[in-house]
Amino acid sequence: MRRMWTSLVCGALLVCSFAVRAPLQAEDIIKLFNGGVVSGEIIDETDDEVTIRTKRGNLQVISRADIYSVERAGSNLDELESRQAALRRFDLDGHLELARWALEKDLVDEAHALFEKVIDLDPDNVEAREALGYRRYDGKWYTEAAYMQDVLGMVLWEDRWVTPEQKGLLEMGFVQNEQGEWGRPEPVGPSNYSSDPGDRVVTGSEEQPSDVEPARDPQPRPPVVERDPAERAWYDDHEAVAWAEAKTYESKYYLIKTNVKPEYAKRYMKMMDQFYLRFQEVFNLKPEQGSRKSEVWIYASQQEFMQNTGMSQGVGGFYNTGTRRVTAYHGRFGNNGTTQEVLAHEATHQFQDKVIPFGNAPIWILEGFAVFFESAEYDGEQVNIGTIPQDRLSHLKRGLSSGDYIPLVELIRTSQAQFTAYHYAHAWSFIYMMIYYGDKKMQKRNQAVFSELFYRTKQGYVTAEAVEELFGGHDKFVEFEAMWKEWVLDLPYDFDPNN
Ligand SMILES: [Zn+2]
Repeated sequence: MRRMWTSLVCGALLVCSFAVRAPLQAEDIIKLFNGGVVSGEIIDETDDEVTIRTKRGNLQVISRADIYSVERAGSNLDELESRQAALRRFDLDGHLELARWALEKDLVDEAHALFEKVIDLDPDNVEAREALGYRRYDGKWYTEAAYMQDVLGMVLWEDRWVTPEQKGLLEMGFVQNEQGEWGRPEPVGPSNYSSDPGDRVVTGSEEQPSDVEPARDPQPRPPVVERDPAERAWYDDHEAVAWAEAKTYESKYYLIKTNVKPEYAKRYMKMMDQFYLRFQEVFNLKPEQGSRKSEVWIYASQQEFMQNTGMSQGVGGFYNTGTRRVTAYHGRFGNNGTTQEVLAHEATHQFQDKVIPFGNAPIWILEGFAVFFESAEYDGEQVNIGTIPQDRLSHLKRGLSSGDYIPLVELIRTSQAQFTAYHYAHAWSFIYMMIYYGDKKMQKRNQAVFSELFYRTKQGYVTAEAVEELFGGHDKFVEFEAMWKEWVLDLPYDFDPNN
């Protein structure tokens, strides 16, 4: 026993020195007369037995009587080095043979280095190319990555190869359903869209810790205006024909398929066209001439919507980028939401998809504008923009005054997957400020920033760095952030952009 103890200490020391050389070393291999092979790290050898630590960390003491041969990893490496030194520079076969031998001895890195030399001498050497993982296409050799990129046109998403379209979708948190359709359900969307607490991550109001008094919330919120009772009744009327008999109503900009009463459908036609005009105005972008009218489906009730789409109760509607269609239902949603807010939000995404190359705009822009329009008011004649989403602003003010907020530098670097309801509030406020902050001259300048930003989406994905650059660089952007904090803290809940 004592002797064994001593060898273990010795072994431990060996491990230390072994570890340093480990990247270059293969394992020690003990071949047995019975055909077995034990590989690992030999930590002790006596005349009678050999002690080896296997990869799993087990110690095995093997009797010499059972051992056919012992191959020390280091000895293979030494042999390789001496054989390599003896090779002539242009000896193609010699390099190839040594590479094979190295591979056999499990000296993989060394084998690969030798195969590289073979390729230097003979660029078309199939054995070396294949050993290094090259693929041949149209008479040319490609590395695995180059093959995926240049031949198949794929891009890397985390650790897998996908199409650029798929990457754009994945980055924005889209999911693919069993039918292969991509969609962006928005259960984490605006707080008034959600009624099912189990289905959503956070909402504007729930995230607030109730026991924390805001340090600064200077403006009392105006009383919530009760909705027009006639309008309420309208949203509660689900009289309809079967979905199979739903009609498609063609307005100036939309194709609206719905099974609600025709008079309700007409109201939606008018409302959607008014939103469309505002989209064009605010984005200052027009879809290509002759582009298809945007498709909107409105089910007569939430129940019908859920049955037909498979969406949960927490989803008020969604835009599917594959079908380019907005799907929603006629009715109320959550505490204060209605079809109007849902359609305004999702139709914003639909419009964005028409004018901004897909996947090229950062998520804070897409969602910030969607919230901007979702908060707009429709008076039956036209859409009035600039209304403050009070829950979101209240939440944001509390966060800013207690220091629990998302810095803008972080916001513009947040992916769709990480985008919470609190991010929506930040994104909205950022965009709201860009539109309404300062005098006319300032507003013009800020509008130019967006125009430039949208223009850049034509070239590719707009990075956070590119956004900062439009503000004059990272430092200037941080300065803007300080202004943003002050502005939002002082922003009245009933701010009227027209005054
Ligand atoms: Zn959205």
